[in-house]
Amino acid sequence: MDVMKLDNTYVANTYARTPIVIDHGKGAILYDNNGKKYIDLGSGIAVNVFGAGDGEWVSAVTDQLDKIAHTSNLYYTEPQAKLAQLLCEKSGMRKVFFGNSGAEANECAIKAARKYNSDQYGESIRSTIVTLEQSFHGRTLTTISATGQDSFHKHFHPFTPGFVHTPANDVQAMKLALKDECVGAVMIEMVQGEGGVVSLTHEFVQQTANLCHQKNILLIVDEVQTGNGRTGTLYAYEQFGITPDIVTTAKGIGGGLPIGCCLLGEKLEHTLGAGTHGSTFGGNLACCAGALSILKRIDQDLLDGVKKKYELILRELQGASGVKSVTGLGLMLGIEVEKPANEVLAACREKGLLVLTAKHKIRFLPALTITEEELMEALTIFKEVVKV
Ligand SMILES: *Cc1c(COP(=O)(O)O)cnc(C)c1O
Repeated sequence: MDVMKLDNTYVANTYARTPIVIDHGKGAILYDNNGKKYIDLGSGIAVNVFGAGDGEWVSAVTDQLDKIAHTSNLYYTEPQAKLAQLLCEKSGMRKVFFGNSGAEANECAIKAARKYNSDQYGESIRSTIVTLEQSFHGRTLTTISATGQDSFHKHFHPFTPGFVHTPANDVQAMKLALKDECVGAVMIEMVQGEGGVVSLTHEFVQQTANLCHQKNILLIVDEVQTGNGRTGTLYAYEQFGITPDIVTTAKGIGGGLPIGCCLLGEKLEHTLGAGTHGSTFGGNLACCAGALSILKRIDQDLLDGVKKKYELILRELQGASGVKSVTGLGLMLGIEVEKPANEVLAACREKGLLVLTAKHKIRFLPALTITEEELMEALTIFKEVVKV
């Protein structure tokens, strides 16, 4: 059976796939269907926090599957309630809505922000949401509208109205955007992932948070990619000294199964009542049981390890031949290289190393538990490939 041919024939061609068939893996090591071994610096796009085949996560999920996988949200269930409790305890937020993806978590955040403003100020008065240029918030029609990249704003008109985009790290532009009385919320990523691994500045984040506070404009932080220990803290916003009103997360908390979480702070504790939002699969029991086992283990030891590996990567790559810059936080890094990123990606793959790209950069999003030996081996291959 030729898997690539089958896929190309029958799966919608929405992905420019890398020409390998991944078969199985353990931790940061993956194997293709020819038995070729790869060191994986992508972890399923920041999903496999503890790598592939993480035993505790597999047991948590399979134990739940043996009991029951799905009941619908018509009934109370323990995994959902416990996961919501732990999320609130760890974040200081008050309520959690569960969906099935990052985009759905953001959809919920947008709906909650619009409803809060509608409750407070009247329908449609403060419905505008400000997001940043080069942001990425998902692929549904509304989250595409929220995404501040023109390349996404074609083919599918009409898009959801009510989004304004302003440049990242430009305090004056943000000030100007927030002068508009129709603005009810701001949504930002602390490190823009898909947009090229661009970190926001502390000044910009704090000024934006202050402006929002003064005007009772809600601050939504999209931690779909930056969350779950990725940047060296449970959520990246902790490093910026702010308290968001809404936090969304997905990717890493799933540990390999789909889940999206929208965390609502004090102001929005009572915003979403029965019937205002919902999802059939949202908060699926196997997904929640798995996510609980992931979230429990994102502890200080793991986070210290992320910081240590960040230092190691910086030490190895800064000033290396063919490397122009390294941006990002923790184990979410963008590497600007002299060679075209696509060529680097392909050459790495040949040598048994899987990397990602973001815009013109190479992106690293390894499992947080990748060993220093694996990382060193990966960096040796990488440096060999990018050197000029
Ligand atoms: C990946 C991502 C999303 C979308 O998540 P999906 O699970 O693909 O819907 C939204 N926001 C950010 C910041 C992301 O990185």
